[in-house]
Amino acid sequence: MVIGSTELVAIVGSPIAQVKSPENFNRWFASHDHNVVMLPIDIHDEGLDAFLDTLRAWQNLRGCVVTVPYKQQVVARLDELSERARALRSVNVIRREADGRLLGDNVDGEGFLNAGRQQGFEANGKHALVVGAGGVGSAIAYSLCQAGVASLSLSDVSAERAAALAELLASAFPSISISTAVNSLSPFDLVANASPVGMGDSGELPLSAELLASLPATAHVADVVTVPELTPLLRLALERGCTIQTGPQMALAQAGNLGNFMGVTPLQL
Ligand code: NAD
Repeated sequence: MVIGSTELVAIVGSPIAQVKSPENFNRWFASHDHNVVMLPIDIHDEGLDAFLDTLRAWQNLRGCVVTVPYKQQVVARLDELSERARALRSVNVIRREADGRLLGDNVDGEGFLNAGRQQGFEANGKHALVVGAGGVGSAIAYSLCQAGVASLSLSDVSAERAAALAELLASAFPSISISTAVNSLSPFDLVANASPVGMGDSGELPLSAELLASLPATAHVADVVTVPELTPLLRLALERGCTIQTGPQMALAQAGNLGNFMGVTPLQL
């Protein structure tokens, strides 16, 4: 129940009705007797500046998750950014400090890494391939570099996107070998699909049959796609004997990271 002393967090985007965070967070707050509620907020882009000013003054609001289409638009409007949010030019969570300053971060990649840890995968020293260099792929690639991978390869149908991300990462992490050429999967400890390929009933795979033939049984294979939970890539990986990590596992770990950043949940939601 919302009472006078209830503290608030929000999720902002447009449209907003499809997001799952409010039900997940509010169920968690209720079942743990936390006097906090998450509000879904659909703001017209003309109101974004006024909304952020309101957040600065909103004393019983701890923070705000940011979703499509505002992840990039809020970047230049916040008071402080984490190093990775600045590098990625993308924010998916804002914390309101006690003095009203708004601090932005992007924890998409941390959610991916935590889901991996829960499946026994540690990125440090590993050789990783990320397919899809969009919003989520960029955040995952950045966090893999922060976690100390030995090498990172990037693949995207848009060669331009893959090259731009490779350039960004190479300058932020000069000691890590970054590549956009993928001829075989055999060198990889991690193969991650961060593209929408495999979503729904498409049955599609994000890599060619020729490349997938070289997928080693020792690889950890991850997918960001949430529906279906077992994507065609993950089914193939299971058949090959690989360990896997699903999109819903990432989403759950991600929710813990978002709540943690806003100061309203422990890491495990
Ligand atoms: P985006 O549009 O920013 O990026 C997608 C990228 O994939 C683009 O660069 C595109 O060129 C590339 N791509 C498309 N088809 C490809 C192919 N066949 N091979 C290689 N690259 C290809 O999208 P996004 O915001 O990064 O989201 C990607 C996916 O991640 C979506 O399906 C989204 O639902 C999912 N997602 C999952 C979670 C989670 O917690 N599991 C969180 C956020 C997003």
